[in-house]
Amino acid sequence: MDADLQNPPPDLAAAPEAANPQPVNASQSPPHPPIDTILQVLRNGERFLVCSHSRPDGDAVGSMLAMGMLIQQMGKRADLLTADGVPAIYRNLPGAEEIRSVLRVHGPYDAVILLECDSLERAKLRGLESFFLVNIDHHLTGSEFAHVNWIDRAAVSVGELVYRLVKAAGATLTPQMATCLYTTVLTDTGGFCYGSTTAATFAIAHELVMAGADPVHIAQSVYFSTTAAKMRLLGNALSNLKREGPLAWLWITQDDMTRTGAAEEDCEGIVNYALSIAGVEAAVFLRELPESNIRLSMRGKGALNVAAVAERLGGGGHESAAGCTLDGPLPHALDRILAELRQELKTGKA
Ligand code: 5GP
Ligand code: MN
Repeated sequence: MDADLQNPPPDLAAAPEAANPQPVNASQSPPHPPIDTILQVLRNGERFLVCSHSRPDGDAVGSMLAMGMLIQQMGKRADLLTADGVPAIYRNLPGAEEIRSVLRVHGPYDAVILLECDSLERAKLRGLESFFLVNIDHHLTGSEFAHVNWIDRAAVSVGELVYRLVKAAGATLTPQMATCLYTTVLTDTGGFCYGSTTAATFAIAHELVMAGADPVHIAQSVYFSTTAAKMRLLGNALSNLKREGPLAWLWITQDDMTRTGAAEEDCEGIVNYALSIAGVEAAVFLRELPESNIRLSMRGKGALNVAAVAERLGGGGHESAAGCTLDGPLPHALDRILAELRQELKTGKA
């Protein structure tokens, strides 16, 4: 495969040239496919940093772990870093204890592999810009900020892309890798519910289960390992539930967080309760942050593009799952998002 490269990737020893990236665009017939370039980068180097976005989700954690395992299988070293810790429901994934939470990155690294980040800023890690960067993403709002960019918006999870990389590398898909990758597919399709789910999704799930992922155990770890604090938080959020035709929303204040003893990660999935109402097309969960701005989590059933709304407000995501952060106070953020969603419903999907 290496011999086929018309245009070999930059000599990684010449790291200072990293300041002038030559983007490789997966969607515009690049001189060679990013997957080959990425494998070449991995083969050329010895030491890599694998990272993902802040407040990591199942795709972030699972794809990082599988990527780290692939690199190790290739006989190289991978450090796994994120700005925030691994949520409890993913801490039993194989190798999860190797993910460290830091604010600044120190090399030397031959390359940094960013997974699931639609911009460099999404990682919330300082010092990344001085390295040779590889961006592997599937967000609708993905951007070519790195030296090598592989953005496949049709992939259900970045884990699906790591799975393709494992296969292209001719590496062994171990039960540990399969477990991490299945978790990315399960969580990023919302349990095989989002619009991104197709027959191909089940084909990947099938292969991962055949390779040793236990779908029952993984589903129980992700969906049936709730803390009592989260249930109390959910009760608070549901008591704030409001509906206006195809829109539904609910929220949690900082005071609710303190009273229930809930953690940040306990907010995950609450938005789906609002979306689950018959006739609701889009739902928003608003959460007051300690620093008093407001985190928004949006979900849609297909009638509108929530990523377009999130992007207009400085965030991003997918057509049916997106998020952003707005200035407080909460009623102000709520007015803003409702105005945007009402507009988006009128104008329809972009
Ligand atoms: P969640 O609602 O689960 O936090 O996020 C849903 C989706 O939107 C995920 O794919 C996540 O990466 C993306 N997302 C959430 N918040 C932000 C944000 O502030 N900026 C960007 N660019 N993407 C976000
Ligand atoms: Mn993802």
